Amino acid sequence: MTDTTADAQARSTDEAGRNPAAPGGARTVASAVTPALVARLARGITAGEGAERVTTAAPLTGEPLADLPQSSPADVEEAYRRARRAQRDWAALPVRRRAAVLLRFHDLLLARQDEVLDLIQAETGKTRLHAFEEVLAAASAARHYGRKAASYLRDRRRGGALPVLTHTLEGRRPKGVIGQISPWNYPLELSVSDALPAFAAGNAVVNKPDTQTALTALWARELLVEAGLPADVWQIVVGDGPVVGPAVVEHADYVSFTGSTRTGRQVAQQAAGRLVGASLELGGKNALLVLADADLDRAAEGAVRACFSSAGQLCISIERLLVHRSVADEFLARFTARTKALRLGGGLAYGADMGSLVSERQLETVTRHVEEAVKAGATVLAGGRPRPDLGPLFHEPTVLDGVTPGMAVCTEETFGPVVSVYRFDTEDEAVEIANSTPYGLNSSVWTKDARRGRAVAARLHTGTVNVNEAYAAAYGSVASPMGGMGDSGLGRRHGAEGILRFTEAQTVSTQRLLPIGPSHGLDDERFAALLTTGLRAMKALGFR
Ligand code: NAD
Repeated sequence: MTDTTADAQARSTDEAGRNPAAPGGARTVASAVTPALVARLARGITAGEGAERVTTAAPLTGEPLADLPQSSPADVEEAYRRARRAQRDWAALPVRRRAAVLLRFHDLLLARQDEVLDLIQAETGKTRLHAFEEVLAAASAARHYGRKAASYLRDRRRGGALPVLTHTLEGRRPKGVIGQISPWNYPLELSVSDALPAFAAGNAVVNKPDTQTALTALWARELLVEAGLPADVWQIVVGDGPVVGPAVVEHADYVSFTGSTRTGRQVAQQAAGRLVGASLELGGKNALLVLADADLDRAAEGAVRACFSSAGQLCISIERLLVHRSVADEFLARFTARTKALRLGGGLAYGADMGSLVSERQLETVTRHVEEAVKAGATVLAGGRPRPDLGPLFHEPTVLDGVTPGMAVCTEETFGPVVSVYRFDTEDEAVEIANSTPYGLNSSVWTKDARRGRAVAARLHTGTVNVNEAYAAAYGSVASPMGGMGDSGLGRRHGAEGILRFTEAQTVSTQRLLPIGPSHGLDDERFAALLTTGLRAMKALGFR
């Protein structure tokens, strides 16, 4: 593959003779997301009569996309009232009945995926393949919790205060109504994958998606209702983050937040003030390590996916490439060639390799990080420029060399298609560079020796590590926890932790035959002596 992005794009424009941002050109955002569809979906928003309205724009074209009512703080209160009422009956159902809804949702989602792929592409500007990753992730979470919720939530027998005499069960009760706040970058996955285990555990959810991607969340809610979820159990409110977000936290029994570290801190403080728990899935500055013995072709292919999926607007995508000096030239030749060959595009069909950024704000950050770095002495190995010829928010996949710690792109999350390259001589040095960030979300290690890869992984300060994969291996392992260390967050989604966070543990102990106190004529002293003997006997018998 030797095409430059510009060459490849220019060729596709000439051959197709159509807007280069829409290869295939047959279906447009406007024809897929009609006013009737928007009006139908918008009815799922909890907002009063005469609510203020906001019109979103399609990133691919800049054209108006959806005119949506905005919820007020009073609407958020109303959403909680409805959710609380509905939650009581929902929680009273056997867990298997609730889990069956998730399993039906899984099947419906796979069957109707084209509808939501259009919406995701229209709202985010990502390619169809990157949108499909959301379907994959949401379906995997639905199936996992659909099958496993009952076992995660079942009562568990625990050792009692007194062997035989005390029967103790640990149970799991729903928290009540979960306040869920989600970002725009993975609108299906991040509205559904946390909500599903919350529902399975008997909770209701009041969800505030980002306004930019509300249609996708509203579609997912419609589908889950079709699968059997009582409509009021999932409330969706839409509005300005700093106004509606705090209102969501204000009434929640638990908060599930995904977004930036800056907002996450505010949410955590507000939740702490109310003494309610919160899980926080935040930003990252993720590193990919190419060890000296890596398969360089596989590593280069994986690194391209790691850096440029969803145009780098993926919390677990890679922004720092750490390469062993002995293979750096060879690896970079392969990696930059693959990067330059990526086909940029935004039609509502499979084919393009990388899509658009989502907003002016994202494009501004990406452009600023690249320009500042270049001004301060960094070298552009690939890309480096916005591409307004393709659409208002396109930017080339960009590889920077010679990046130093004073540059924003070195330390701050860019959240775009920009990666910088660093060389290392020893494994210790690689681990030190990888860990030299307050973030700790995801990392990736490439080596022919899987055992060595896992040994390096154990030294990396990130919640997930992928050995010989970019990010999908760990994220797709939905039975195992996913989340961040340090500034990347608190708590975990997926696995047991991903559902138990939405429950309160409750211990129920039943005492039989003898009370735990002086009785049957024992005075306090003899009772204490008896229990002392009892404790020694339990130790001798190996209890507790
Ligand atoms: P953001 O923090 O600006 O917004 C996230 C959500 O919070 C939005 O719905 C927003 O409206 C809302 N919000 C804004 N201010 C609020 C406030 N004061 N109180 C409550 N809610 C408020 O983040 P973003 O730019 O939309 O998303 C990108 C960020 O999300 C990146 O940093 C990315 O790494 C992170 N992210 C993390 C994960 C993960 O799993 N760790 C996944 C996706 C995205």
